[in-house]
Amino acid sequence: MRTSSPTSWGNIPKASHSCHKLNSRLAELPAAEKSVLPYGLGRSYGDSCLNDGENLLLARGLDHWISFDSETGILQCEAGVSLAEILEKTSPRGWFLSVTPGTRFVTVGGAIANDVHGKNHHRAGCFSTCVLDFELLRSDGSRQTCSRNENETLFRATIGGLGLTGLITRATIQLKPIVSPLIESEQIRMRNLDDFFALADETQDTHEYCVAWLDGLASGNALGSGIFIRGNHVGEPTDLTWKKKTMLPVPCHAPSWFLRKPFIKAFNFTYAHKLRGDRHQTREHFLPFFYPLDVADRWNRLYGKKGFFQYQCVVPREGDGGPIREILEHISQSGQASFLNVLKVFGDQPAEGLLSFTRPGVTLAMDFPNRGPETLALMTRLDEIVMASGGALYPAKDARMRGEDFRTFTPNLNQFIPHIDPAFSSSFWRRCNSTPPVVKP
Ligand SMILES: Cc1cc2nc3c(=O)[nH]c(=O)nc-3n(C[C@H](O)[C@H](O)[C@H](O)COP(=O)(O)OP(=O)(O)OC[C@H]3O[C@@H](n4cnc5c(N)ncnc54)[C@H](O)[C@@H]3O)c2cc1C
Repeated sequence: MRTSSPTSWGNIPKASHSCHKLNSRLAELPAAEKSVLPYGLGRSYGDSCLNDGENLLLARGLDHWISFDSETGILQCEAGVSLAEILEKTSPRGWFLSVTPGTRFVTVGGAIANDVHGKNHHRAGCFSTCVLDFELLRSDGSRQTCSRNENETLFRATIGGLGLTGLITRATIQLKPIVSPLIESEQIRMRNLDDFFALADETQDTHEYCVAWLDGLASGNALGSGIFIRGNHVGEPTDLTWKKKTMLPVPCHAPSWFLRKPFIKAFNFTYAHKLRGDRHQTREHFLPFFYPLDVADRWNRLYGKKGFFQYQCVVPREGDGGPIREILEHISQSGQASFLNVLKVFGDQPAEGLLSFTRPGVTLAMDFPNRGPETLALMTRLDEIVMASGGALYPAKDARMRGEDFRTFTPNLNQFIPHIDPAFSSSFWRRCNSTPPVVKP
């Protein structure tokens, strides 16, 4: 069945698909002559959730809640259930996600397949740490329960496995207890990158969550200036119930003049100077703290029809910044930056997935409006710094890294490849591995 073709969040690249809507009565994968790829809510930015010219399995229809034990916080649900739906149902009962990315409009299947991380990586690691088990439907019709005790290597291959090892149909996840929907949060002005590292160190043991927003166009002594944000769940009980707020609609793509450089520069400067003093402490609901961008529906349309790239890398932390300083200098000199420039230190715990992105170091995520060759040239230069430092790029955010770079960034690739389901493929996989899709017999 061909429907209007789903896109990725950055709207790059364009792709067309035959789409198969899945539902809870799914007994086996639809017969397809070409390869298939599961698709959740399309919150990946590049082409890891696309399968151009081939088939997408729209997994959002796997939306059944199977069981929830409010004594233990163990939830079993189908893989198309979103993190937003989980929070709506469990947080009023005192249970919260152990790890959540910067948007709640992500499915459980998508969160596992990219082994997503959140503001508490230094404490909690990636999403997989809360996954107890899942069921994987393979193209041979088999359904395999995967956990740390059963089919352990397939478990590790599917975590961060980019949807290539089969369809996750359901998962069991462990939630964590909360006594309030509020977060004790603090925003602190950073004058430069040194302030960032000092605050990150100070915060490791005192705060569960932290992240920094940077003025991507600041330079010289102000390089790395911005706002450091940290928080903890409120410890004394308050009313756990809350009401959903309506999201602001972005009804269509913005015109190309909307994101001109002077506008972005003014935004960066204003945001970086929004704090009246040097610190602001408050108690706020968890929604604005974790998901400030979710306030607007489909905000990606603000980047216009040409779309945008997100660049997320991790590089080792060295001396006074080392590679991350070099990267920020290049971006600042290029004059290309956007609203979203996020910096965070990852913790040391090794990720469980064979292809999981996180590793010890500093991670930077930036959005770049698509200005064609100018933007591509900047990112190629950044790749060189990442590569020379022994860092890596995040496939969930990527639409253009070179295959040879991906293979260098992925030390467990040879262990992973035997677990790929022969009927599954993606645009990202073909681009980075130059292997033709395998056709289902
Ligand atoms: C505003 C915003 C903020 C974000 N912040 C973060 C962040 O802080 N940290 C972070 O790590 N990521 C972040 N992301 C990226 C996002 O969390 C991931 O890309 C996530 O995997 C998207 O999930 P999805 O349900 O939309 O899946 P999709 O994007 O549709 O698919 C992602 C991958 O999952 C696979 N997949 C989907 N469903 C299944 C299934 N049932 N079985 C097997 N494979 C499946 C797909 O094949 C694909 O490879 C952010 C994205 C946005 C838009």
